[in-house]
Amino acid sequence: MSVCTKCGNPNVIITRKQSGQSLCADCFIKSVDKKVQQTIRREKLLNKGDKVMVALSGGKDSVVTLDILNSYRERHVIDLCAVTIDEGIKGYRNEGVDIAISHAKRLGIEHKVVSFKDCFGIDLDEIMKTDNHRGSCTYCGVFRRWIINRTSREFGADKIATGHNLDDESQAVLMNYLEGNINNLSSLGALTTSKSPKFTPKIKPLREIPEKEVGLYALAKGLDIHLAGCPYAQESFRMEVGNILKDLTKDHPTMMYSVIKGYDKLKPLVKENYPPEFHQGDCAICGEPSSNELCRVCTFLKELGHRVQL
Ligand code: SF4
Ligand code: ZN
Repeated sequence: MSVCTKCGNPNVIITRKQSGQSLCADCFIKSVDKKVQQTIRREKLLNKGDKVMVALSGGKDSVVTLDILNSYRERHVIDLCAVTIDEGIKGYRNEGVDIAISHAKRLGIEHKVVSFKDCFGIDLDEIMKTDNHRGSCTYCGVFRRWIINRTSREFGADKIATGHNLDDESQAVLMNYLEGNINNLSSLGALTTSKSPKFTPKIKPLREIPEKEVGLYALAKGLDIHLAGCPYAQESFRMEVGNILKDLTKDHPTMMYSVIKGYDKLKPLVKENYPPEFHQGDCAICGEPSSNELCRVCTFLKELGHRVQL
């Protein structure tokens, strides 16, 4: 029977295929903390005095992001706040919102719950009942990003932290390669900034932590997390790519890591030749940055016969 490679504790909770290392709960938590700290330092994700807003769904990734960033807050390196989006998915979202509220309360941080209904006058369940809708995830992603960015400005946040893990990020890199979306590639990475001052920079502190380890970390630390799956989740290209990567990882345990490391080397070249889209103007309705007269949110809402509630 294996014992913890670091301290000899016989209660091993993980054996990492890539390194052969076996770890007990305490040493595992420390190793994840250390890896995230390395990412934060190397990629310069935080500056002293930053106000960071966590996009907190209540799922494992965002809860772990909040928990780790809170250690920076406790050391007075950063200030922390959080936003939770209520898309209006009956029987699914409420539990996540409650969990998010309880974490924000436990840590004593500023927290806002913002709903699609309040911002747009219509929620996701209602959209899904309309004819000719574009599919749940299309609205969800576009509407959520709009709320997150706008709320970060209301909070006066310098950074938005999201819970993207190694699986998410390697999937995104591979998906964009496979689809030939080279323009989208320049907006990946641990830190994304924009020339538009209306866009708050985004950071991904968990970018080098495999999804499985994020879940195990939450379990090892006894963090309450929302486990249910969204009822609208369907087979997607992202899932197919995720399955390919998972299969490859069985025999090549460092595969996801090498996908993002290879991408990191290419990123400066991609950015130079395919710069991220710069939104020149402001949307005529909501005032958010937009290359066209109307931003995507206002375009979608117009199709649905609604408007941003300003
Ligand atoms: Fe939104 Fe559900 Fe789609 Fe995720 S799966 S983007 S929560 S509708
Ligand atoms: Zn708009």
